[in-house]
Amino acid sequence: MDSSKLSLLASWMKQSKYTVVLTGAGMSTESGIPDFRSPGGWWRNIDPATVASRYALENRYELFRDFYIMRINTLEGCKPHEGHKVLAEWEKRGLVHCIATQNVDRFHQEAGSRNVYELHGNIRTVRCEDCSNAAELKEFLEKKPCAKCKGKLRPNVVLFGESLPYEALDNATHSISKADLAVVVGTSLQVYPVNQLPELCKGKKAYINLDTGRSSSQFDLVIEGSARDVLTKAEMLLD
Ligand code: NAD
Ligand code: ZN
Repeated sequence: MDSSKLSLLASWMKQSKYTVVLTGAGMSTESGIPDFRSPGGWWRNIDPATVASRYALENRYELFRDFYIMRINTLEGCKPHEGHKVLAEWEKRGLVHCIATQNVDRFHQEAGSRNVYELHGNIRTVRCEDCSNAAELKEFLEKKPCAKCKGKLRPNVVLFGESLPYEALDNATHSISKADLAVVVGTSLQVYPVNQLPELCKGKKAYINLDTGRSSSQFDLVIEGSARDVLTKAEMLLD
């Protein structure tokens, strides 16, 4: 990894008065949670984006439920990694104002980050699709219907085909619009509308990703590397 790029990131972090971090699935792969778009065999050879959809919820509920049960089970035994902890530490030290995340795993909060906007909801809580009543995660894992109306239970994630939670998106949009520095980590920037957020930043923009080929042209600094590596190395330069 290019050490001059890491030094530049560290110096921007120090200078910036308002830094926003935007994360995607690549932030969590080193915790053992697979992303959606990296190459590699996927579950039952199905493109996850097609199952994580309103269409699947409405028309292929058993497949939808099995997919989310698999994803929730994958979280068991996985933990936030050093990179998540570095971000939480930076928030405590006033170096990061907030994190806007597409991840539904809650690892940022588990690592100690406070100001987290969950743009795609979370996979740790469940509701009824039909009557919106909250249900226990256990009921969903046991394939039970809603206790109140017998409707379909589902995780509180944003599916393809659904709109994002207004408050989280509004907070993320406002924060990134006034940021001096946006640090974008582990996202392919292919999912709308989150992929529109970086360009709202009028300050500097840094992109940290394993594969920087496709989405990097709008950034002032592009660091090719893993989220954990880059963040922990940048942290050492900040001391
Ligand atoms: P994506 O799968 O489209 O892209 C992930 C990106 O991260 C890729 O560009 C990949 O090259 C990169 N990457 C993989 N491992 C990395 C690492 N260790 N360090 C740095 N970069 C790495 O994911 P996305 O852009 O977040 O969009 C996918 C959608 O899937 C989102 O809606 C998200 O909610 C959901 N999702 C969430 C999780 C999670 O919560 N952990 C996991 C999978 C998918
Ligand atoms: Zn119900």
